[in-house]
This record gives sequence, structure tokens and C-alpha cells, in this order.
Amino acid sequence: MKKVLITGAAGFLGSHLCDKFLLEGFYVIGMDNFITGTAKNIQHLRDNNNFEFIEHDVTEHITIDGKLDYVLHFASPASPIDYLKIPIQTLKVGSLGTHNCLGLAKAKKARLLIASTSEVYGDPLVHPQTEDYYGNVNAIGPRGVYDEAKRFQESITMAYHRFHGLETRIVRIFNTYGPRMRLNDGRVIPTFMGQALRDEDLTVFGDGSQTRSFCYVDDQIDGIFKLLFSDYVYPVNIGNPHEISIKDFAEEIIKLTRTDQKIIFKDLPVNDPLQRKPDISLAKRILNWEPKIHREEGMKKTFEYFKSLTREELYKSEHRDFSKHIKA
Ligand code: NAD
Ligand code: UDP
Repeated sequence: MKKVLITGAAGFLGSHLCDKFLLEGFYVIGMDNFITGTAKNIQHLRDNNNFEFIEHDVTEHITIDGKLDYVLHFASPASPIDYLKIPIQTLKVGSLGTHNCLGLAKAKKARLLIASTSEVYGDPLVHPQTEDYYGNVNAIGPRGVYDEAKRFQESITMAYHRFHGLETRIVRIFNTYGPRMRLNDGRVIPTFMGQALRDEDLTVFGDGSQTRSFCYVDDQIDGIFKLLFSDYVYPVNIGNPHEISIKDFAEEIIKLTRTDQKIIFKDLPVNDPLQRKPDISLAKRILNWEPKIHREEGMKKTFEYFKSLTREELYKSEHRDFSKHIKA
């Protein structure tokens, strides 16, 4: 049985990856320190004999007994509000955490896939974004902690590939959504859905003309799985190119949730990218992959998930306290 380590397993994407690899017949080791994830996301795997969980901070040395075939490094805060609150942990998990994963993969002769992001393009001057675009990132801006950690992550991964001959893959993930996102993680979809369910106005940042392109989680996981088993070592965009402005998206959510919320406008966060849309021709060509799930269908499934949360979960909406994870 092939054995895979998934870091960030208790998070949104990590937990879906655990499901996918178990379904495909792998032995899965999930690793997480719960800084932004939750045990609830992997609770259903507790009695699965092909799954084991290790609570561990991947910025510290990682030890895995026995053989290992694949490492998928997904541990990292992913929401702008999370990484603004824990900037140093974000830099460390992208740099030291990646270094540890690479060292582990090298020792085990495993193949490693890292979760990079559309944020490596920053506030892009090329639209839609192609993999050969170098990006427009403000290294010293508030988002720089995430963007630069991910750019370093790509760099060190290519260095291990070139210098040590390690088998590596790099996925540049564009905004992905679905069940198991944390209601209060600050990202736009859980935020709008929580607001709709609590009968609050929807907070659009800036004038809402900035765009995003949202990919449903099942499509994203399918793309990542295909990339891992391809022979392509350079970065590949995986996302849904169907672009929408945030204001139009807020209106779509009001219709979907059948609520009569108003939209209120708040300040646009510093360096918030004004436009984002993946060019996915490379993924289409080399992976024969493209997203299949239309936003309407994906959003319905996601709304069903948020509706199923308890009242307590819905109203416990203050942002997470990270203090127990922060060392002096
Ligand atoms: P998430 O916050 O739900 O999951 C991240 C997980 O990593 C959490 O469970 C968290 O506890 C864990 N983690 C963080 N630091 C850790 C550490 N030092 N040691 C061990 N575990 C740690 O976020 P997500 O949306 O699932 O994102 C997963 C990965 O995908 C991240 O690397 C993120 O940068 C990348 N990504 C996601 C998106 C998206 O739209 N969801 C877009 C681009 C990139
Ligand atoms: N956004 C918003 N209202 C919110 C949360 C986010 O208008 O309550 C906007 C945010 O400014 C950005 C877009 O929605 O332009 C997507 O934000 P998100 O935090 O989901 O991720 P990003 O794509 O910026 O990483």
C-alpha cells in the first residue's frame, strides 16, 4: 500500500485530500497543529485503519517511521485575516515547514507536492494569470508574509529538485471553496454565508469591483491528484476561470440564500489584488483537467454545509484566538 503524508490535514483542503487518498486506496498520515484547522474536519476518519493522525507543528523536525511514498505539504494559514494575525507562523510554515518536508521527502525518497497559491502573482498586471508571469508582490506589505513565504517555498522546492534530484510538484491554487471551510476564517465565502445565516448585512470591501474566480473543492482536489501523478515539475495553476466581481458575488449570495440582506461597503484591505483569474491552458494540456462544477452548484452544496452548523457554531463568530500557538 502506498503511504502519503498530508500536512495541514485538519484544514479545509487537507481534510478533503485525506478523503481522496483514502478513497484511492492509500495509507494516509495526517499531520496538523490545529492552528487554523479543527479536529472536526477529520473526525469521520477516526476509525479508518488506513488513516493515522499526528499532532505536530511542521516547523519543528518531522519524524515518520518506515517508508513514505508521497508528501503533500498543505499546512499554512490561507485566509488573509489568519495570516495577518499570525504573520510569523505564516512565514515559518512556508519556509521552515517546507524545508522540513523537503528533508523528509529526500530521506524517504518520496515525491513531494507543495501547495502554492495565486498570491505569488500578487496584484497581477497580467490578466488572466499564466504560470510564466513573475508577479507583482509587495514584499513588505501586510500580505507579503504569505506571498513571500509561498514564493520562497516554490524556490526551495525547485532547488531540491535541481540539486538533489528530488521529485517535486508545485500547484498554484486559486480561490477554492466548499464544505469544511472555517465559518470565521475571514475569507469571503464563509464570511458572506455566515452573515446571511445570522441575518447580518454583507460586508463588501472597497467598491466591490475587484474580481475573483472561485473553484469548487472537488475540482481542485481532482486537479491536485492528477498533478501529483503527472511528470511535470514546474508550477501549474489549478482553479476555475469563471471570474466575478465581489459586488456581483455578494448579490448572487443574497439570491442563493433567499435573504434580503443589504450590502455595506468597508475599506479595501492593503494590497488586495484587484483582479484574479487563472489561465488554465497548461493544466488542460498536460493533465487533461478542467473544472466541472459550476459556481451555482458548488455554492448550493457549500451553503448546505454552513446551514448544517449548530447555532453555537454559527454565533461563535469572533475570530480565532491563536495565542496558545504563539511562542514568545
Ligand atoms: P486551512 O487554514 O483550512 O488549512 C491549513 C491547515 O494547516 C490547518 O489545519 C492548520 O492548522 C494547519 N497548519 C498551519 N500551520 C501549521 C504548522 N506549522 N504545523 C502543522 N499544521 C499547520 O487552509 P486551506 O484553505 O485548507 O489551505 C491549505 C493550503 O492550500 C495552504 O497551504 C494554502 O496556502 C493553500 N491554498 C489554499 C487556497 C484556498 O483557496 N483554499 C488558495 C491558495 C492556496
Ligand atoms: N472580501 C469582501 N468582504 C469580506 C471578505 C472579503 O469584500 O467580508 C473581499 C476581499 O477584499 C477580496 C475578496 O473578497 O477582494 C476575496 O477575499 P478572500 O479573503 O476570500 O481571499 P483573497 O482572494 O483575497 O485571498
